[in-house]
Amino acid sequence: MQIRVLGAYGGSTPRHRQTSFLIDGTVALDAGALTSALELEEQARVRAILVTHSHMDHVNSLPFLVENVFGKVDGPIEVIAPPEVVASLKTHLFNNDLWPDFTRIPNHLLPVVSFRAVEPNTPFAVNGLTAVAIPVAHVVPTYGYLVSDAHSSVIFSGDTGPTDAIWKRACLEKKLAAIFVECSFPNAMQEIAEISKHLTPSTLAREIGKFPPKVAINIYHMKPPSAAAIAAELAGLGVPRLRLLGDGDELNY
Ligand SMILES: [Zn+2]
Ligand SMILES: [Zn+2]
Repeated sequence: MQIRVLGAYGGSTPRHRQTSFLIDGTVALDAGALTSALELEEQARVRAILVTHSHMDHVNSLPFLVENVFGKVDGPIEVIAPPEVVASLKTHLFNNDLWPDFTRIPNHLLPVVSFRAVEPNTPFAVNGLTAVAIPVAHVVPTYGYLVSDAHSSVIFSGDTGPTDAIWKRACLEKKLAAIFVECSFPNAMQEIAEISKHLTPSTLAREIGKFPPKVAINIYHMKPPSAAAIAAELAGLGVPRLRLLGDGDELNY
């Protein structure tokens, strides 16, 4: 499985793109940076987007991707998430107010985008991969995803504070090659992290105790103003299997 880090951050500056990964060139996980990181031809190869939750830093490039690939793709791009997340995107984003309802453009029979609501904790197929949405602990309905091919599996936490179900699932996964987990704020902002349900290096260290041993740990969703402080505190944890992701990184499992 090839994973490109299109956006490693939970915010935006000219040097920090928002959360988005691309798996095997065709399946995206979150859409914070699909149009700022991918060339038009690469955008047209995206066949499905797994969405963790409705927050803007995870969906903001969806409207522009859909517009860019209009007329260039055979069949709709699938936006996949559990029902509450799909409902939020339909109600608040593709609502003919913030952006046109592209599920009815050019018409409802041949749309450029379609939504697929998936059942949490139930595996589904997506463009040659298998995925499962697993609920995590954030301020809106949010799901991490376990994504597998025949050879290996990886798990993405989504935005979350301390949580359990997804890490229990990770421990059961025999071919798990990597965990992608958020760390949004430095320890000095612990109270804000708790209110907004995110992790700091200190709470991440406790979460790591729930992870299966030896599996690679990739950190993302740092808030740009705090990125340097988070990096220093994570280095201080002294966990050799931990890697801080950056925009443009490519990982193969
Ligand atoms: Zn976020
Ligand atoms: Zn969020």
